[in-house]
Amino acid sequence: MKYDLSKVPTPCYVVDKDLLVKNLEILKSVQDRTGCKILLALKGFSMFSVFPLIGKYLAGITASSLNEARLGYEEMGGEVHIYSPAYNDKDFDEILRFCDHIVFNSFNQWKKYKDKVKSVKDKEIQCGIRINPEYSELKTAIYDPCSKFSRLGTTLNNFIPDELDGIDGLHFHTMCEQNSDTLKRTVKVVEEKFGQYFAGLKWLNFGGGHHITRDDYDIETLVETILYIKEKYKVEVYLEPGEAVALNTGYLVTTVLDIMENGMQIAIIDTSAACHMPDVLEMPYRPHIICSGKPGEYPYTYRLGGPTCLAGDIIGDYSFKKSLEVGDKLVFTDMAHYTMVKNNTFNGINLPSIALYSDAEGLQIVKQFGYEDFKSRLS
Ligand SMILES: *Cc1c(COP(=O)(O)O)cnc(C)c1O
Repeated sequence: MKYDLSKVPTPCYVVDKDLLVKNLEILKSVQDRTGCKILLALKGFSMFSVFPLIGKYLAGITASSLNEARLGYEEMGGEVHIYSPAYNDKDFDEILRFCDHIVFNSFNQWKKYKDKVKSVKDKEIQCGIRINPEYSELKTAIYDPCSKFSRLGTTLNNFIPDELDGIDGLHFHTMCEQNSDTLKRTVKVVEEKFGQYFAGLKWLNFGGGHHITRDDYDIETLVETILYIKEKYKVEVYLEPGEAVALNTGYLVTTVLDIMENGMQIAIIDTSAACHMPDVLEMPYRPHIICSGKPGEYPYTYRLGGPTCLAGDIIGDYSFKKSLEVGDKLVFTDMAHYTMVKNNTFNGINLPSIALYSDAEGLQIVKQFGYEDFKSRLS
């Protein structure tokens, strides 16, 4: 590692600013080449101490709730978009204050809030409808917005062309960790089904799920697809990735608390899958640990588990070249996105600290949590 692990108060997320800038430069190059606008989806990454940096590269943020919209508005600036399956009346006035683009999930919602939006006089708020093209290439139902009976977006059958007056754009989000060949095929379906309604629109939003900053991502096909739509329909194109912004930029540093035996070697560490990396259990997937291998690949294999009393709080089985000792540090990779934003304090387990690293500035501990953070969510 480029910093002294013994200086890290574990558990701790360490986000590498230099790697983040590398991702932002890739995203900016897509904006520069196509004239599209890229928004950070706060749902995936909301580390607001780096929002000023992200704001130098991207056009703004997209939010899934009033709280996210406000965070983006206050900490980054730029455009503030929002989408929710349904808005509620008590939030809507504040949404109008913080947002400049509001995407509605249904024509019902659009009709309900249309007059309120149009009554705002001190700024222009653009409105969109989320469509469900009923085409996705995802196999896991929990991540598939186009699965049978999906509530996410309006299908062609439920689309009401007569209600488009005042609508500035259409939005679809049907991808997850996918390459641009999927986008190209998806855009073709969207165009076949909804292209007849594109005339007169100001923008199309291609949603998130574009793994643009991954090594094998085909940027040329993305650029081609954006330019094709922009030129043919004279619309602006938005992308709103979350994961791609923070992909491979962060680590979770942990300490081995104990080693025990029950049919195999088990190491208990000071981070929990259930509390600090819930996607390990939800997706599920096995995160990588620096200098580790698959079980049996190196001489010393351990099952790694968290400090909660949930039996299934298991991160996975890993092997190492040396035996693990109490006090050893383990470093999980790719821990910046969908971790901090999903954390919880189940079992009263403390939240991991948040730190930033860069070659120029070294390691800075940005935030540490304690009892009050746990208590303030309860009563
Ligand atoms: C989750 C989500 C995103 C971001 O998705 P990533 O997979 O993190 O890129 C963007 N838009 C909408 C509507 C989403 O639900």
